[in-house]
Amino acid sequence: MYISDLLYGSLGRIVATFSIIVIVLMMFLVSLRLYHSRRKKAYLSFAVSLLIIMIQYFLMSVWEISNHAMDTDSGYTAQLLQVVAFILMNMGIYQLYNASRRREFVLFYFFLASTAVIGALRFYFVRLEAEPTLQFLHFHNMWIEIYVLFLTFLSFYLIAPNVGQHIKYQFSLTVYFLVQAAHILNTYVMKQELAVFSVAENFLPIIYYITLFMIIFERVVELLQAVYTSAITDGLTGLFNRHYLINRIHQYVKEKKNISLIFGDIDNFKKLNDTSGHQTGDKILKQVARIMKEESEEVGIAGRYGGEEMVIVLTDTSLRVENLAERVRKRVEEETGITISLGYSKYRNGISAEELIKQADQAMYHSKKTGKNKVTGFPQKSLAH
Ligand code: GH3
Ligand code: MG
Ligand code: MG
Repeated sequence: MYISDLLYGSLGRIVATFSIIVIVLMMFLVSLRLYHSRRKKAYLSFAVSLLIIMIQYFLMSVWEISNHAMDTDSGYTAQLLQVVAFILMNMGIYQLYNASRRREFVLFYFFLASTAVIGALRFYFVRLEAEPTLQFLHFHNMWIEIYVLFLTFLSFYLIAPNVGQHIKYQFSLTVYFLVQAAHILNTYVMKQELAVFSVAENFLPIIYYITLFMIIFERVVELLQAVYTSAITDGLTGLFNRHYLINRIHQYVKEKKNISLIFGDIDNFKKLNDTSGHQTGDKILKQVARIMKEESEEVGIAGRYGGEEMVIVLTDTSLRVENLAERVRKRVEEETGITISLGYSKYRNGISAEELIKQADQAMYHSKKTGKNKVTGFPQKSLAH
């Protein structure tokens, strides 16, 4: 046996078919699982598409064994199934990136219906002919091939601009196009199968399905990431939310990390809301949050503790917490037109997370009582500025 046997001829086809069925089966199971938990239509489209592909390959294997030529009715049926699967797959990818709106999906259903019409017409014309020659069959089979090429180009122009991962998606379409081209050359043009086209027709689909798998996988990770991010961040400010912040502080304290806390509360915020309106208040709040975020980047985390109360957890021990707090105070004063009172506390062995937060809060309260727009450390001592 030669390596070339594995690449083309009927053995090559078996090796390729087996690999594809395994990949497609895995993708099918993952899609079903995702649809079960997420109920996103895209996953259902994938599942149906992949099921059809498995049926197609299964039928092709059966026909291969029973020596049906590919230009008979069975070969044509396989081709039709593949087109339906292709349309559904593209619909799924489109749905992954776009909210389901009826208008656009009409197009996909139109192409599915067109496939059925082209398929039915071919069977009708072939039935009419008493003794169809090979040439006659080829002529009628060609329509679906042209239709697939048309759909591939259409996907390039209509779908690719509307989905993420353009490059990967366009790569998958290119591979799909090459598979179709090899198939057409093999079936209609070559008198004898040419090795290179057989190998392409057999094995390029593997690359195609792996690329599809990567597109789906990446998008799922992205979507899950977004769900996670929205669960731990505050919608208005983009800072971590209170729940996440407190959890992190608990975790640091448990690990005996040498952290410091800065507790900040905007001065006279109620008055600002009353005089300038809630929207202006929100805008200022976002500005202060951005300063908190920028100053804590790489040295700790910033979170929204309450309405206009924000906390920085400083984890970098090389930075002095009083300097960081003072920098925040100064920037808020200079950049936002309002002021902020701050307090800080430092981790000591045996202290609880709640105590640590309470101490920073108390220090902040001392800043408020003694004139606002200042930084106080725990135990209370105001920093002159
Ligand atoms: P102090 O200097 O003593 O901190 O005075 P203050 O008015 O800032 O303090 P107080 O805690 O009494 O009031 C906080 C106000 O912050 C109440 C509410 O109107 C405002 N606030 C809380 N959350 C938001 C928010 O998300 N957006 C806006 N615009 N205002 C908020
Ligand atoms: Mg407050
Ligand atoms: Mg306040």
